[in-house]
Amino acid sequence: MKHKLVRKSVREFSESELGPIAHEIDRDARFPWEVIEKMRPLNFFGLQVPKRYGGAGLDSISYAIVIEELSRVSGAIGLCVTVHNSVGVQPILNFGTEEQKERFVPLLASGESIGAFCLTEANAGSDASGVETHAVLEGEKYLVNGTKIFVTNGGVCSLPLIFAVTGAGDPARNASVFILEKDMPGFSVGEIEDLCGMRANPVSSLFFEDCRVPRENLLGSEGDGIKIALATLDTGRIGIAAQAVGIAQGAFEASVKYSKERQQFRKPISSFQSIQNKLADMATEIDAARLLVYRACALKDSHKPFSKESAMAKLFGSATCTRVTSEAVQIHGGYGYSREYDVERYFRDAKVTEIYEGTSEIQRTVISRSVLAELI
Ligand SMILES: Cc1cc2nc3c(=O)[nH]c(=O)nc-3n(C[C@H](O)[C@H](O)[C@H](O)COP(=O)(O)OP(=O)(O)OC[C@H]3O[C@@H](n4cnc5c(N)ncnc54)[C@H](O)[C@@H]3O)c2cc1C
Repeated sequence: MKHKLVRKSVREFSESELGPIAHEIDRDARFPWEVIEKMRPLNFFGLQVPKRYGGAGLDSISYAIVIEELSRVSGAIGLCVTVHNSVGVQPILNFGTEEQKERFVPLLASGESIGAFCLTEANAGSDASGVETHAVLEGEKYLVNGTKIFVTNGGVCSLPLIFAVTGAGDPARNASVFILEKDMPGFSVGEIEDLCGMRANPVSSLFFEDCRVPRENLLGSEGDGIKIALATLDTGRIGIAAQAVGIAQGAFEASVKYSKERQQFRKPISSFQSIQNKLADMATEIDAARLLVYRACALKDSHKPFSKESAMAKLFGSATCTRVTSEAVQIHGGYGYSREYDVERYFRDAKVTEIYEGTSEIQRTVISRSVLAELI
């Protein structure tokens, strides 16, 4: 019942506030601050934050439903909200000191500050050991230098978490995570990326030039970077999988509607067996993907291991999203290839769900490692 209510209220919000502008914000690559303003008091930015820090304290299935429903209408805003809530906020809740939680989490939960998680660099994508951004302690401050690329929410974030090398040797073992603050001298934002999809999200580079970060902004201890990143991505992948389900659902519903309206050979195209087969496969795959997401959520909330299951949900959910949105274009024929129709946007938004927060190849590595360790 609780989950149905969450779905109903977020669906109403998404359809009324994002529906009318989803096409335009994608076309103009515009971040819709006017909708973000409305989302702030509704707790969209503190979905799983405990109430004592100003959040909604939702369970993980509710969280996934919120991301699904936003993404069903606008993948880019689903992306903003999932990245903020999972990889932007959760690491502070999980690894922060009480002082850090009291200082930063209420700002994030209220949406006054938008969060981000910055791992990727020019020479460090799938392989975190390539990270070159470094932080050297000088007195009570770290001197941070480096460049992060492809930062979701990059153009609008004010409390990004950054992954930087803090010691000699293998960067993967000597990395740490810092809470950056927008006004710190030496921190600047690059151009917004001109992306294929997710265009309403201001994905950008972030630059750090002799940026002085107080010691108290170190998250966890020096050298905890990989531990924090891996735990963070396990949670983040649930959100990306939910986003993929939402985008696929939006494309599927548009396809059902169009197939009933579009007439060829004096019949609606939905009367053709091959179109019916496509719709049946789409519906089945979306349901399977959704159930994988909810299983990962249930495991997480019962404090059981969920790393393999969140990787499976992301791997299958993102592949489903790509397949379903491609079939949605096919069902729309030539119109599906036109910017006039939403399925064209869903099709462009889908692909990146197979890339960020670990590519599908990396998800398979995570899953196979776990499977091989289980079956000895
Ligand atoms: C829109 C968008 C938003 C993003 N947001 C963020 C963000 O907020 N924060 C952030 O830190 N990053 C972000 N990223 C970056 C994203 O996480 C990386 O692009 C992704 O991890 C892949 O890294 P890469 O692009 O360097 O590809 P590479 O790592 O160079 O991979 C290239 C290809 O090689 C394959 N490959 C690499 N290593 C292996 C291996 N060991 N085994 C098999 N195959 C392998 C990959 O799967 C891929 O197919 C974003 C990217 C995009 C496009």
